[in-house]
Amino acid sequence: MHKEKSLIEIRTSTLSEGINRLDFTCQARDFEGRRLAEAGFTGAITVTVTAKKSDDEIAVTINTSAVADSACDRCLAPIAKVLTGTLDLFYTFGTSLEREHDKNDEYRHIEKSTEYIDITEDVCDTLILSVPMKMTCTNNPDCRLFSSHELSGSREENEAPQAGQQTSWQESLEKLKKSIVN
Ligand SMILES: [Zn+2]
Repeated sequence: MHKEKSLIEIRTSTLSEGINRLDFTCQARDFEGRRLAEAGFTGAITVTVTAKKSDDEIAVTINTSAVADSACDRCLAPIAKVLTGTLDLFYTFGTSLEREHDKNDEYRHIEKSTEYIDITEDVCDTLILSVPMKMTCTNNPDCRLFSSHELSGSREENEAPQAGQQTSWQESLEKLKKSIVN
């Protein structure tokens, strides 16, 4: 298989002990074939990497920031939002250390002589994971109208369960208020 050219890599030899901060600015189109356009990313992508080097590992935190173009799930109006994502990775040198690792964190073994770490795929994953399940308008009164119109209708829409939750939540709050007063 053809190996895709690496875009974002950490030159481990240039890292000093302690915290290193690396900034990358790239374009979504640079990540060809990595599904970023489908996720709504078409413009500039800002990546900040913090690499903390110690004797037995390099702890990497990837922070991404990019504008995603999408459509409101409720009224279908086009919306553009700055989405930020973060991912923690741990590159460990030794194999002897049988530490209990947090299952949520990602540990990878590398040789101490490794010259660079390619994090292009991880940056893509961070971006794609930063896209929320639902994207709705924030300051669009028309969208609110659309929402209430839809709720008053008899159609079963995806929005209905959420609205129901909100109502029961408000009811609980009212009950709580009353119980405090009594
Ligand atoms: Zn909307």
